Amino acid sequence: MILPKEQIKRYMRHIIMPEISGAGQKKLLESKGLVVADSAEDVLPLLFYLTASGIGHLQVILKEKEGFSELKASLLDLNPDLKLELEGDIPVLRNTENVNFAVFAADYEESKNLKGVPKIFSLVGPWGGFLTTNMDGSNDGLSLFGKAKEPRECSAGLVMSRFFAGTLAAIEAIKICLNLGKTLEDPLHYNLLDMEFKRANGETLPEDPLKGMDFSDLKVLIVGSGGLGSPAAFALAQAGVKNIGLVDSDIVEISNLNRQILHSTSRTGMPKVESAEMFLKKISPDIEIEKYYVQFNNKNALDIIKDYDIVIDGVDNLPTRYLLNDACVLAGKPLAEAAVLRFEGIAMTILPGEGPCYRCAFPKMPQAGAVPSCTEAGVLGPAPGVMGTLEAAETVKIFAGSGKLLSGRLLIFDALEAKIITPALSKNERCPICGKNPAIKDLSGNYDFVCENN
Ligand SMILES: [Zn+2]
Repeated sequence: MILPKEQIKRYMRHIIMPEISGAGQKKLLESKGLVVADSAEDVLPLLFYLTASGIGHLQVILKEKEGFSELKASLLDLNPDLKLELEGDIPVLRNTENVNFAVFAADYEESKNLKGVPKIFSLVGPWGGFLTTNMDGSNDGLSLFGKAKEPRECSAGLVMSRFFAGTLAAIEAIKICLNLGKTLEDPLHYNLLDMEFKRANGETLPEDPLKGMDFSDLKVLIVGSGGLGSPAAFALAQAGVKNIGLVDSDIVEISNLNRQILHSTSRTGMPKVESAEMFLKKISPDIEIEKYYVQFNNKNALDIIKDYDIVIDGVDNLPTRYLLNDACVLAGKPLAEAAVLRFEGIAMTILPGEGPCYRCAFPKMPQAGAVPSCTEAGVLGPAPGVMGTLEAAETVKIFAGSGKLLSGRLLIFDALEAKIITPALSKNERCPICGKNPAIKDLSGNYDFVCENN
């Protein structure tokens, strides 16, 4: 395939990490994926992340044709180079040419006709589901679908599962296209309510203890509306959260669009908080977005977070991460924390006065330059999607007082190895902010080392 010059230029600005780089990005552009689902809602996060990642050609087959044109417009605005075929009827799937991978988000007999193509099978229920990849194109994953409960009402739990499965399936697809890392050949069973991830072994999907939850009283602040903030805000808006504050002093750039799915090509140059508001209002017209087009710093931190119930960390640099931790501990605000670099992510939930904080886990702020930033080391597009989804799920659970939180545990996600573990994390009595004799009593200290971006 010979690429038009303009297109190559656009994609060279997406170069994200050495393992993928120009050659890998070109390979993604030349790849074709098949997605089969009942409705667009079932696979919305997956489609956004496949599109953002630069997969060149998507054939999407949906039983319900509702919202086709709007979906097409949004995806093409995220990546104008995408060749997108949206179809309404499931063809027999024989002779599906040049398909590099197929994702099935429901049980379709037709999948059996597709031979020799790696298949990703995903079954979601509220707060949990199954996901597996068959590299040999066999249909073993179909047995997972015996474990579905019908009908499924839309709920916060179902939204979280769709995001988790969608972002994870997008990672599987990229690994297949680039022949990178390990895929999920052992079926994964995930439970986002208790944050448990293991090899599927006869489980069924859980009942939803939060069905019909009303979020009208919840106010969530998301600091940063980039790689982590995008999926977190998108998922919360779809789940029914009506009050969200967004802090970001950046404008949308084309290099953001491989992972920051709230933004789009037509909105480059716009402040991210405005672009995000436009996107979120489309999903949820009555959502209230409070925009803070400012740099989050030690002068304004406490003032901004005071009006919110729960805070989400979507920042892209360590000094601000420490600042946000300290501000939340001092103000007694629960903080859903996550960070991503290259193929890895970590997440924890900080409940001030109860569990460990970020400084308990990582006592010393590294020296400037010791840790590469996302811009320097790159990040796999959908990896922050997984981590931002986990932050959104934790936020709903904190509000509802339900499930097992990532408080006192550190979740570690390895996208290349397809592995998620949650080792225990204890409070450090000598922690400088939440220990017995804290040295940090306000935010007047130095949070200034800046090694990022510019
Ligand atoms: Zn601490």
